[in-house]
Amino acid sequence: MIITGECFCGSVKYQVNGALCDARSCHCSRCRKAFSAQASAYALVEPQEFKWLSGQSLLTSYVGAHGFGLQFCSQCGSTLCGIYNGTIHGVTLGCVNGDPKIVIGRHIYVGSKAAWEVIPEGVTQFREGPPTKA
Ligand SMILES: [Zn+2]
Ligand SMILES: [Zn+2]
Repeated sequence: MIITGECFCGSVKYQVNGALCDARSCHCSRCRKAFSAQASAYALVEPQEFKWLSGQSLLTSYVGAHGFGLQFCSQCGSTLCGIYNGTIHGVTLGCVNGDPKIVIGRHIYVGSKAAWEVIPEGVTQFREGPPTKA
């Protein structure tokens, strides 16, 4: 499957030759700021399946203390992807075009959600991080 994504102004475009995985939404205060929204909406990609199609020179990165960063379009401000130690880690679902055939599987850190957010009933929620897999 081929998935494409682009920023709001359309200058930066990418393609994923594969499936997205582990789509999640994190409601912690840091993700709210990073995504300028009530929560993150993010899925993982295999680095070798990801490539930029255009506008890569417009990308600006913000890397936090733990080596995890975000890359965004310096022209329109859309956050396109997450990077870890300089390697693509995942994509923001908001910039994915069309239906990537994945849904958000879990809502994490709902214990620290914004006071103004109402989380829909029936979604899988965790007060903090998800239970760690063995
Ligand atoms: Zn843009
Ligand atoms: Zn978070």
